[in-house]
Amino acid sequence: SKVTMEKIVSLSKTRGFVFPGSEIYGGLANTWDYGPLGVELKNNVKKAWWKKFVQESKYNVGLDASILMNPQAWVASGHVGGFADPLMDCKACKARFRADKLIEDHFAKHGKEGVVDGWPHEQMEAYIRENHIKCPECGKADFTGIRQFNLMFKTFQGVTEDSSTQIYLRPETAQGIFVNFKNVQRASRKKVPFGIAQVGKSFRNEITPGNFTFRTREFEQMELEFFCAPGEDLEWFDYWKQYCLDWLKNLNMKDASIRSRDHAKEELSHYSNATTDIEFLFPFGWGELWGIADRTDFDLKAHMTHSGEDLRYVDPMTNEKYVPYCIEPSLGADRVTLAFLVDAYEEETLEDGSDRVVMKFHPALAPFKAAVFPLAKKLNDEAVKVFEMLSKEFMVDYDDSGSIGKRYRRHDEIGTPFCITFDFDSLEDGQVTVRDRDTMTQKRVPIAELIDLIRESQAF
Ligand code: ATP
Repeated sequence: SKVTMEKIVSLSKTRGFVFPGSEIYGGLANTWDYGPLGVELKNNVKKAWWKKFVQESKYNVGLDASILMNPQAWVASGHVGGFADPLMDCKACKARFRADKLIEDHFAKHGKEGVVDGWPHEQMEAYIRENHIKCPECGKADFTGIRQFNLMFKTFQGVTEDSSTQIYLRPETAQGIFVNFKNVQRASRKKVPFGIAQVGKSFRNEITPGNFTFRTREFEQMELEFFCAPGEDLEWFDYWKQYCLDWLKNLNMKDASIRSRDHAKEELSHYSNATTDIEFLFPFGWGELWGIADRTDFDLKAHMTHSGEDLRYVDPMTNEKYVPYCIEPSLGADRVTLAFLVDAYEEETLEDGSDRVVMKFHPALAPFKAAVFPLAKKLNDEAVKVFEMLSKEFMVDYDDSGSIGKRYRRHDEIGTPFCITFDFDSLEDGQVTVRDRDTMTQKRVPIAELIDLIRESQAF
């Protein structure tokens, strides 16, 4: 039978991957808390990203910038400019308008009275459609839906009300990278092409959050800003697009679960040379997982203009001075964790007719890398020694309750790749029974070889 969101939400709660936020107070809409297994899973996802995008990349370095930034940064990024405005684009000429202004102009022209302030988006869209309001630029009457640009959370810095300044919680991690471009380049002595990677929380007052952790107002992003010479951008765009796809596939994401969708020229934002969305087939349909964009020199140039700082790069070979182009692969940590949860979920009927739910996580992502079971209570003291040895290297569980069969089922359901049973023979031969999650086959393994066995399974 098929995986549904209900099954994922339910398993997440009962097994401790994800709980509803503030539950004892009746919750807070669209907030979720990662439980003991969820925090392991999500940390493993972030570690796997960092490993490939920073540790193993000869181009990239890491950064951890603060969530709170000088509000001018958000003016430069464009997040403050269209602030609070219900914007719509003309599909024909790409001009952008405030929907409320278009309607007010229409009112004025026809001598009508009315207040658009506070109209729901649907009402504005319907009014524009029904009255055949035309684009003031090109005269066509074909607009996109309204997009709300008031996405930023406001807060106050400073203790007393009159001395406090209004600031924002960042709606993306990228700007922390752009403002540090010069610092990082100088300190790390990186030459273009190079990238800066960051993992951190972002906040957006989303209009339609939902689908569990797919879209929330507080979420974590894993972003890379990769700087290259103008003219080399499309090549690097292809490079990172493939790199991202490989990352997902190497972590066992199924081919049938992902697709990449290149944006058509008309869809591209005005500053972008190329954009691709890597999408995942969630139970509720295809959803964007990873946005990969060639952002040209748009961001660095904007920060140059607003800060007055010269953010140009000097090529040490040619002494040429230029603003690098930027490729941005941006991935939601929560969203891709949800995708891994969905993709791993399997229901199987076994040979004896019984059913099992098994989470087929790549071992690098599995919350527990192994579980140690004493066959009998008497064996606890010796079995605990195996747990203590392994837990110095990996996240492992120790489980001594219920039949071995029950313990297998429990660990199948949370995706533990290896179940290690310590039995009476183990006292004599120094070997344990290792049962494989996916094949359910069992083999005897010397205790001294367990660490290598688990370590090998972690490669991707
Ligand atoms: P969407 O169209 O889904 O709102 P977006 O195009 O606004 O996404 P970006 O700004 O490109 O998204 O953000 C990059 C990535 O961050 C997305 O691909 C997604 O994985 C993640 N992300 C964005 N918004 C959210 C959110 N509200 N909740 C969870 N993850 C998010």
